[in-house]
Amino acid sequence: MIYLDYAATAPVRPQVGACVRELLEEDLGNASSLHRAGRRARHHLEAARERIASSLGAKVEEIVFCSGATEADNLALVGTLEHQDTPHSGLITSRLEHAAVFETALRSELKGGQVHWLPALPDGLVDLEALEAELKLNPRRLVSVMATNNEVGSRQPVEQVGTLCREHGALFHCDGVQDVVVAKQLIHSGLVDLVALSGHKMGGLPGGLLFVRQGVAVNPQILGGAQEDGRRAGTSEVLRAVSLATALELHLAEDLARIRQLREAFEQPLTGIEGAVRLGPPQEERRSNHISSWLFGNLSAEPVLAQLDLRGVCASSGSACSSHSVEPSRVLKAMGLPSARALGLVRFSFGWKTTLEEVRRSAEVVQEIVEKMMQKERQKA
Ligand code: PLP
Repeated sequence: MIYLDYAATAPVRPQVGACVRELLEEDLGNASSLHRAGRRARHHLEAARERIASSLGAKVEEIVFCSGATEADNLALVGTLEHQDTPHSGLITSRLEHAAVFETALRSELKGGQVHWLPALPDGLVDLEALEAELKLNPRRLVSVMATNNEVGSRQPVEQVGTLCREHGALFHCDGVQDVVVAKQLIHSGLVDLVALSGHKMGGLPGGLLFVRQGVAVNPQILGGAQEDGRRAGTSEVLRAVSLATALELHLAEDLARIRQLREAFEQPLTGIEGAVRLGPPQEERRSNHISSWLFGNLSAEPVLAQLDLRGVCASSGSACSSHSVEPSRVLKAMGLPSARALGLVRFSFGWKTTLEEVRRSAEVVQEIVEKMMQKERQKA
């Protein structure tokens, strides 16, 4: 099997497996209990938080553990806008966002909240001029713009978004799931208030966190105990926290140039396929290292993915959350593609375990499959 779906989930790193197995042997208690088993659990939880804060250049109080980035995105949006002391009201975002942000924004709109939808440019980037114009009209908004789009790998101009937010007194949330390095730089630059990250995209177990800059108030969305400083109730998941800390450290130490070379080696033969179009921005600095998304003529993604699977190549049709559906990609539609074409998105993504041999082999398989399928289509026409 050749696994090229890291943007959906990365294989668990052996070091993560090892540390989780070790913890399972420890008979840990509840991290809120006062006895020694509880204190031991608490020690592991807080040590993981310290490691994460240090990896991201954040303060320990700024890290809120969540069940995943979906929950973190929900908490960022609803938790800040609902807070009684917040001077911010209304949301500015776009249809390029992951469902965790998009659906939350839609719900807020349905409930009567103000949501301004920024237009998307054809290459999958958010329109900065439209953002600036909107912030001039309505400065104290919450702005949500992701670091890298999960379907087409467009790297958003988040530094400029952050600067505009600072200039206009807006709050800035960034879904950093598909670009942890950029998320870390944003945190370091002080240009962002909230950042969501996910463990299983980095080779950890499912689980995530929300970075909440000191001074930003969030209302808990899961109610109950006072865990996570009152911002997220529920028994602390120590294994998840330790897995996240370990995966994050390893992910940040990854050789990004190697991943980019894998992507380039994969793409080079595909550019020769007649009718194949790579999606996303042309300029390298606006592209993610690990995502390569394509349309192959008018082929729908489903049969292509099924053929690839039969040949042992795992790829996807964009967002894993919607990859069971045959709905055209909302992101591609926002980029201006007609619905029929938006059904064709095939996404390949690479990561820590991918080898050059694997990408070369899979590019050959893709080429064989889509050329054969496109030829059949032409004969039918
Ligand atoms: N945000 C982005 C950009 C994603 O790609 C994903 C996962 O597909 C999520 C959020 C949700 O992350 P999780 O699976 O941790 O809930």
